[in-house]
Amino acid sequence: MTERTHILILAGTFEARLLAKAACAAFPDVTVVLSFAGVVSDLPDTGVPTRIGGFGGADGLARYLKNHETRILIDATHPFASQMSWNAYHAAKQADVALMRLDRPPWAPGPEDNWTFVPDMASAAAGLDTGSRVFLAVGRKEISTFLDRIDLFALTRMIEPPADPLPDHWRLELARPAQSMEAERALLTTHRIERIVCKNSGGTRSFAKLAAARALGVPVTMIERPALPRVLAAETPEHILRQLAHYL
Ligand code: NAP
Repeated sequence: MTERTHILILAGTFEARLLAKAACAAFPDVTVVLSFAGVVSDLPDTGVPTRIGGFGGADGLARYLKNHETRILIDATHPFASQMSWNAYHAAKQADVALMRLDRPPWAPGPEDNWTFVPDMASAAAGLDTGSRVFLAVGRKEISTFLDRIDLFALTRMIEPPADPLPDHWRLELARPAQSMEAERALLTTHRIERIVCKNSGGTRSFAKLAAARALGVPVTMIERPALPRVLAAETPEHILRQLAHYL
């Protein structure tokens, strides 16, 4: 066992970066490493030691944990990054490492919202009105599920371009979600959007589009989260820090 405790944080969310910085500040005797999948090229500089790229499945992650004598693994990936959450679960068991998940709560509709919940992308794609104008805020990987719906006008937004070309009459915005409700409202109005399709990601960073939908009376198809393993979980970086303080 090395002298310093090693914590590996699986990143991919805003909260993962907050947690990594806070953990470094709160526990200076601990080595914190933040791991990114590497799907986005302009990674933010957190000032926290970082590694980039996949581990090679659960077995590869288990090997990494053993080789780096990691004691705590924190799954702070996006709630829809279920493959990685399951890998973390199996790898932590294999390497006998403590596992916690930073699990931000899902969004819930208010009285002024008009949301329809669907279990997955395929159901969302199948349920869209023929010829309608939709904002597909589903990400780069999942957009492929909608490519057969060329009857739609779709506004799509993602950080990196999709693997497959989009229909010519669709509109692709290469951007992160806007943080202001006004900006999202302008986007929906400009493109005369009649419905938003999005994942129930939770958190504050991509909520503005839902506030804009509420203000404009635009209905939302909300894709429910995939099933994740049952592990020790907390909703905020602060809660995880408290759990770490007990554990360390
Ligand atoms: P995924 O399907 O759950 O994972 C696919 C593979 O990517 C994993 O098997 C793993 O490769 C690698 N990977 C994922 N997260 C990693 C991490 N933090 N560090 C190192 N390798 C990682 O994930 P995804 O949905 O493609 O998402 C990829 C990343 O983007 C995740 O980190 C996630 O937090 C972030 N993200 C995802 C979404 C979303 O909607 N899915 C939204 C925002 C951000 P190996 O098997 O080779 O280890």
